[in-house]
Amino acid sequence: MTLHKHVVVIGGGFGGLAVTKALSGADVLVTLVDRRNHHLFQPLLYQVAMAGLSPAEIAVPIRSVLRRQQNARILLAEATRVDLTARQVELGEAPPLHYDYLVMAGGSVTNYFGHAEWPSVAPGLKDLEDAVEIRRRVLLAFEAAERETDPEIQRRLLTFVVIGGGPTGVELAGAIAELAEFVLARDFRSIRSESTRVVLVEGGARVLSSFSPEISERARRSLDEMGIEVVTGKRVTQIDATGVAFDATRIDAATVLWAAGVAASPLNRTLGVPLDRSGRVPVERDCSLAGHPEVFCIGDAALFVPEGQEQALPGVSPVAMQQGRFVARQIARSIKNLPREPFVYNDKGSLATIGRSRAVAEVGKLRLSGFPAWLFWLFVHIYYLIDFRNRLLVIINWAFAYFAYERGARLITGHDIGRQHRPAVPANAPAALAPSPSRPALEEAVPRVEPSAPALTPSP
Ligand SMILES: Cc1cc2nc3c(=O)[nH]c(=O)nc-3n(C[C@H](O)[C@H](O)[C@H](O)COP(=O)(O)OP(=O)(O)OC[C@H]3O[C@@H](n4cnc5c(N)ncnc54)[C@H](O)[C@@H]3O)c2cc1C
Repeated sequence: MTLHKHVVVIGGGFGGLAVTKALSGADVLVTLVDRRNHHLFQPLLYQVAMAGLSPAEIAVPIRSVLRRQQNARILLAEATRVDLTARQVELGEAPPLHYDYLVMAGGSVTNYFGHAEWPSVAPGLKDLEDAVEIRRRVLLAFEAAERETDPEIQRRLLTFVVIGGGPTGVELAGAIAELAEFVLARDFRSIRSESTRVVLVEGGARVLSSFSPEISERARRSLDEMGIEVVTGKRVTQIDATGVAFDATRIDAATVLWAAGVAASPLNRTLGVPLDRSGRVPVERDCSLAGHPEVFCIGDAALFVPEGQEQALPGVSPVAMQQGRFVARQIARSIKNLPREPFVYNDKGSLATIGRSRAVAEVGKLRLSGFPAWLFWLFVHIYYLIDFRNRLLVIINWAFAYFAYERGARLITGHDIGRQHRPAVPANAPAALAPSPSRPALEEAVPRVEPSAPALTPSP
């Protein structure tokens, strides 16, 4: 095969992998650059955070996914700048990459809306490190509560606040409540599951606001039944190692989790083009940059407003995957001097899980909740997991967890565990519950965007 054009893809997530795989038969050389060596199935991150699955069960090395694709090579590197004029991608210290076509698929990062002090006290859930850190904090809080003799401190240790009532926040809140009810109650002697308090705080009027009001109400009822306190219409104004505050209300909590927003990949800012409020690159009908038909931006990093609509497409995996396959086709067409086509999104619906046998789903006019929606959610997530080994492991783990009420991945890792003494209080906050110095703060303020709904699935 003669390789003519060089396509550089930044990001091996849902969008980047889709475009690379779809170019497998094209007469091009593809270089996929990712700062991680693995593709991550983010929809199941909360399962790692809640000790239901291990990290390796939802991630797969990008090299192994593309092993058989002869026209693709993978570089483990961070893209630090895109030079549109020179048509090259800078990779820090490594030599820059020249491209004929560039696909930006860098995804998004957690957005703290300019509060540089919040990431350390309220971890978000965006990558495996986040998930393991959340797991560690939640499990350590239970461990510390088991040792604690002061009831007030024990109460604070057993209070968990999740900020953000989108799908991720709902999943996390539900999973903490379940962890307390089904698993920990059996293994601890001094703490009771009823003492666990889970509070879900949402700034908007309802949880799962991207779903219909009816589905949102059903989700709220499920949360109520699980004993989760839902607070709506409140924006958190303060978070520290001892809890959160909104309006005049303060909740003392040793564990606060952030699920209230994302911003597009900071790499977008190096393009020197106007971005939207959450840092996304506005793209044309063919997902290319205005004035740069050789540069495409897809997935969470892009702002694509469908023809005749006001709302941009949501930041969900089906959008990224469909755009990835679409862009591969447009590159192939350009090489053959064929005109570009417009991208049309095929929306197959939305799903969110709340807990064991509880989920909500909207597929066209069909609205499901409870066990049928949960079964559907299970099937969809297993089906779209990359890698047969992972599918098998997840099925086995979930079946075991379902029938044995067990969470197999309850490992607390880190070097400072033995030094845990007391819960996070201003005077003597313990290391594991206090701000972790390793978590980076967001570089600059980015305004709020509503977290988007998880859409059903990538279309096959
Ligand atoms: C907790 C959580 C739950 C979710 N649940 C669902 C769900 O149930 N259903 C659903 O449809 N969607 C869900 N989503 C959203 C979905 O995961 C995203 O919409 C999707 O991942 C976007 O794909 P992408 O290719 O744009 O970005 P990503 O999949 O995030 O991939 C971006 C890739 O780019 C790499 N990268 C970023 N910057 C650079 C750089 N400068 N240099 C090199 N590499 C870089 C990253 O390492 C990453 O591999 C969820 C997201 C989260 C965080």
